[in-house]
Parts: sequence; structure tokens; C-alpha cells
Amino acid sequence: MPEKQIKSWIKPEVLSQPAYHVESPRHRIKLNQNECPWDWPEELKRKIVERLSSVSWNRYPGLVPEKLKDKLSEIVRVAPNQIVVGKGSNEVLQALATVILRPGDTVCTLAPTFAVYRLLSEQRSAKMVESFLDKRFRVDAKDLLEKSHQARMTILCNPNSPTGTLIPLGLIEEVAGESTGVVILDEAYVDFSGVSALPLLESYPNLIITRTFSKAFALAGFRIGYAVMAETLAHEVQKGLLPFNIDLPSLIATEIILENRALVQARVKQIIRGREQLISRLNTLDGVTAWSSHANFFLLETPQGPKKTFEFLLSRGILVRDVSGYLRCENMLRVTVGSPEENKILYQAIKDLT
Ligand code: PMP
Repeated sequence: MPEKQIKSWIKPEVLSQPAYHVESPRHRIKLNQNECPWDWPEELKRKIVERLSSVSWNRYPGLVPEKLKDKLSEIVRVAPNQIVVGKGSNEVLQALATVILRPGDTVCTLAPTFAVYRLLSEQRSAKMVESFLDKRFRVDAKDLLEKSHQARMTILCNPNSPTGTLIPLGLIEEVAGESTGVVILDEAYVDFSGVSALPLLESYPNLIITRTFSKAFALAGFRIGYAVMAETLAHEVQKGLLPFNIDLPSLIATEIILENRALVQARVKQIIRGREQLISRLNTLDGVTAWSSHANFFLLETPQGPKKTFEFLLSRGILVRDVSGYLRCENMLRVTVGSPEENKILYQAIKDLT
């Protein structure tokens, strides 16, 4: 059968999209997906496996993970019914798009930002309206307010990816106050900035905050994320998720990890320290710019340019993210902050290159 005919069964909005893509060549040091550089200690993993082996695998998990919601509600200090749990924050974002967006609706985002927002919106035939960051990645507040005012959905990422920059909380409050639609704030990297919009939730019923266990909590291999919002909204957003979406292994792992938050906090501190050291050391190199960041990654520019630098780093076994396709990042790579040893190796490689 001709490919053209097969493709005619797919929505044009999907056909015109590039597939989400992450390079995965062979490497020793993985600095391309903003994961935590350290795995969980063996004894904790064993505890998870033991608990998993003590429950029935032939039975469905809860329709909704009520126990996890209770635990999260204590941590973020909201009612359990204000929380929606998904397989990664990606699934929560997908549910939000499913229950909110109609064909022709407008979705306002910043540019550059996380590519999944566009992917989800376009697949639902929504129209993207972008507010461009300036050359120093600052938000044009007036432009954002204007564009988000009429949008059915505004999605902001704080700290933003791939830039690592922070949107001032005051501006987020203004956007939430003035927009006639919902305002989603993606706080995937909030642990590294320490700046959350959670306190705004009570005053702005259109505000939705998403979080993930994939970054600071070092659980990207299990897929858990959640969103916090007004109870009425949460009830509806839950309908956008399939029943029994959260599998037992992810649930049990998350519950046990939440009992070990002290280790998460210690690691976050170490990553922040590593970020500051690495950025300031890189900036001492001739022609190199490492952009300051509030996340566990930063943008890097070298005189050799992103393609050559990417290949050179890879020849040393270091995998970073080429973000040169993103607006305003044409000359840049995105580098995840690693362990102190990894940071040292990255620094030495850039020194040798330049
Ligand atoms: N938001 C941002 C800004 C991200 O960078 C990511 C991970 N790439 C996600 C959401 C999704 O993460 P997860 O689905 O693992 O929670």
C-alpha cells in the first residue's frame, strides 16, 4: 500500500510534527536529560523490591493512588482532592490538554521552552501563541500578559527549560490574575530554584502546578508526576487520565522514596553547589559562556559552536543536549549538572577543546 494512503489515516496536525527525539549514542557520562547523577542506594532499592513482592500482582492497583495523594497532600499542604497523579508530569500535562483544549483554542507559552507543550497542543488542533524571551532570556512581561490574557491555556515552565532562567513570581501572579484561561506552571526543576508558586494557588483558582519525581527525586526510571490545583478542576482533570494509570512498582517506589527526603535534599544542595562551581569555572575559559541557571542544567556556548563541541564531548564519552534548534539557542548546548567527578571531567574536556 502506498505510504501516502497510510498517512492519510493520521491527523494532519500529527503528520506535520517532528517526533520527540533524544539522541542516545554510546557514552560514559550522561548529561543530556537533567536526571539526578546518583541512583538510589542498594538497600533502598531492596526495600522497594521487597515491598513490591509482598503485594498481589494479579490485582489492579487503586483506581486512583489515594495513599500517595494523601502523602503528597501533607508535603505540599493542600487537600488530597487537589492532587492528580500521572505517569510522569508528561502524562499530567497530557490529561490537562485532553480535558481543556478544543480545536482552535489558543495556548500561550514562552519561547524557547519545553517542546512537549507544543506537541500536546498541536495534536489537539490548538494554536500556539508564543511570547519570545529576549537575548538574555528575560520575559517581556507586557507581551506575555497580552498574549496569555485571551489564551484558553498558558503554560509556563519555572525554572524554564532549556534556559534555566526564573520567571518572577510577581509576573506569574499577574498572568494568573489577568488570564481568562488556565495557567499551568511546570515546576519540574523547582527543587533547584527553591522558588515555588504553591502559595499562590489559594488566590488563583485557574492556576495549576505540575511537579515530577524524575529530576531531584532521582526516579525517572519509574514514571511519576503530579499536579496541584483547585479541587473542582482536579476532579475534571482526573477524567483525562485512564483508570488504574499508576502501576504498583512506580507507586511503591515513590512511597518509599518520600520516606527518604533528607537524602534528596542533601543531593539537591550538592548539585546546586556543583552548578555554581562548574558555571563559574567554565566562564574563566576564553570565549566560553556558561549561562547562570536556577535548575540542574545550564546553557553552554563555546567558540567551536554546538555541533563540534557536542562531537568532541562525545569523543570523551560525555553526552550533552544539542539545543541549537531552539529559538535564541542557535549557538548552544544544554548541560546537566552531574556528580563532582563528572563536572570535573566536563570542565577538563571544554578546557582541552577551547
Ligand atoms: N517538564 C519539563 C520542563 C521537563 O524537562 C520534563 C522532562 N524532560 C518534564 C516536564 C517531564 O518529565 P516527567 O514526565 O519525567 O515527569
